Amino acid sequence: MLYKLQGIVLKGTKLNDSDKIITIFTKEQGKVQAVAKGVRNPKSKLVGSTETFSLSDFVLYKGKNLYNVNQGDVIDSYYPLREDLKKLAYASYIVELVNSGVVEEESNTKIFGLLVKTLNLIMKETKYRQIVRAFELKFISYLGYRPHLINCVNCHEDLNDNIKFSINHSGVLCEKCRGIDRYGNNINIEIANIMKFLLFSSFENILEIEIEDNILKKIENILSLYISKNIDKTYFNSLKFINAVED
Ligand SMILES: [Zn+2]
Repeated sequence: MLYKLQGIVLKGTKLNDSDKIITIFTKEQGKVQAVAKGVRNPKSKLVGSTETFSLSDFVLYKGKNLYNVNQGDVIDSYYPLREDLKKLAYASYIVELVNSGVVEEESNTKIFGLLVKTLNLIMKETKYRQIVRAFELKFISYLGYRPHLINCVNCHEDLNDNIKFSINHSGVLCEKCRGIDRYGNNINIEIANIMKFLLFSSFENILEIEIEDNILKKIENILSLYISKNIDKTYFNSLKFINAVED
């Protein structure tokens, strides 16, 4: 059976001397894996569409088990992402996170749109940390794990300054409730507000402001724990790459 799917390549793995298996996040069917025959030959017509980050219109053929790539027409190769080490590092983290968080063959058009938008922004802008923190908050929310940030997750009272972010309770605990999670991360109202802003605002508005490094670092640490808990993955290869290019 033939499938026409639009998707972004999240990953490519060598299968043998001539073929690769690619993981594609498609708009219509979510994550699928497909064999791309002959693409390790640079003359193959499928070389461009099967590169990581490429957004293409694919025609896939499904046999008994696996999909095979029959055709791939590149819509955007996101070439600049491969030319700049920082862009490459952050974009690699985005696709690794999507690949780890989504399940196979389950469409999620909000995540698809978010992925396309974020790769475009990493290509054109340089506030990578702000873009990636906003991506993490939006992505984990679209997966169904939106953290509760608008008031106390336990008693729904307004927040004051002496608060905690609780990974276990998936949200912010007020001064009165902060004791219920002794492993919670101490934060202040400013950090809670910025997390809320990154989650609910458009990227256009997010890029208009400048967030201090120490605040972004704190949010990064919290989200790293929060994501690991919810998608059950603690190690990302691409984070090592980001650390290497950011020094
Ligand atoms: Zn409370």
